Amino acid sequence: MENYISENVQKIEISGIRKFYNKVAEVPDAISLTLGEPDFAVPGKVKEAMIRAIEENKTGYTANAGIPELREAISRYLGGHDIHYNMNEICLTVGGSEALMSVFTAIIDKKDKVLIPTPAYPAYESCVKLIGGEVVNYPLTEDFSIDFEALEKQIAEEKPKAIILSFPSNPTGVVMTKNDRDKLYEILKDKNITIITDEIYNAISYEGDYYSIAQYSELKEKVILVGGFSKTFSMTGLRIGYVCANKRYMDSIMKVHQYTVSCAASISQYGALEGLESCLGDVEYMKNQFEKRRDFVYGRLVELGFEVVKPKGAFYIFPSIKKFNVTSEEFCESLLREGKVAVVPGSAFGAGGEGYMRISYSYSLEQLREAFDRIEKWLNNNSF
Ligand code: PMP
Repeated sequence: MENYISENVQKIEISGIRKFYNKVAEVPDAISLTLGEPDFAVPGKVKEAMIRAIEENKTGYTANAGIPELREAISRYLGGHDIHYNMNEICLTVGGSEALMSVFTAIIDKKDKVLIPTPAYPAYESCVKLIGGEVVNYPLTEDFSIDFEALEKQIAEEKPKAIILSFPSNPTGVVMTKNDRDKLYEILKDKNITIITDEIYNAISYEGDYYSIAQYSELKEKVILVGGFSKTFSMTGLRIGYVCANKRYMDSIMKVHQYTVSCAASISQYGALEGLESCLGDVEYMKNQFEKRRDFVYGRLVELGFEVVKPKGAFYIFPSIKKFNVTSEEFCESLLREGKVAVVPGSAFGAGGEGYMRISYSYSLEQLREAFDRIEKWLNNNSF
């Protein structure tokens, strides 16, 4: 049988992060700093709320968009960041992942161009390709912020249908600054383009103020915001996220969402609701712990002579390995086999990631300390 797999699926590969994670299994004594998953337990009250939901038989389908109480709670929570969506503009999804795929499916036709930063979370490119869209990468500056001049040129030349923004960033940890938000507004306000802003790490931002393009009410007609609770409440396996958009988009996103998943898991919705109502203190605690780890990891990398941008959000750091003159795949493979530390090759995050490695510091300080001692020893002995 020929052509039994769709052309679109043939165009993509499984995630480079997972591929590398699988290699780690072959080196049983390696320390893995590969996954983007908080090591904290789900807050106790979230657990209790989910158990209560089961005991009260809240296990049936919910409304397609999710339970109204949670949509209202998200509306209030985002309002605290000066981002304003009412509950009818919010739909609960199966993680941020389903939110992204439902959005892409709702707005992108075959051959439509989508501007995607590079380096970036790999799902953007793969999901856009899966539905036949065309990926146009936009470069970032040396410090991983937006290269506005290049971006303006690309918008004029490529006429993309959508642009993806991703702050705080996986893999770089860079956040949106006020200045950049305002510059972006000036560039995008008159353009016929949909802005998809993935802010799944919004709760993990070490700077005092939080900035997002979704704060401009003047842009609301064009902006779709993706968020979620995987990282906020350390509930990655419970698969709960959300998408916010005005009616113009939401009616269509809902069609895709309805036929794909019907609704997000009811139990997880009740857990997230409790989280927003009574666990923001736990989130603050996790964030402070991540900040301490960030400081530790950044400090060690600088000591070891790496060129590295200090992250201001999320729990990743993306040091340059260009001076070693090998590919990021070779570097990380060698660090894994000889140094017994697993990190993700930058190339897993697209063309702009080559020459870097991604370290996830969502691991305990103890593990991070041991990992860096190993990295130091390996660097002293390696032949690069
Ligand atoms: N966006 C970004 C930038 C991510 O890093 C992730 C998860 N690693 C997601 C979206 C999807 O998260 P989830 O589906 O677990 O909510």
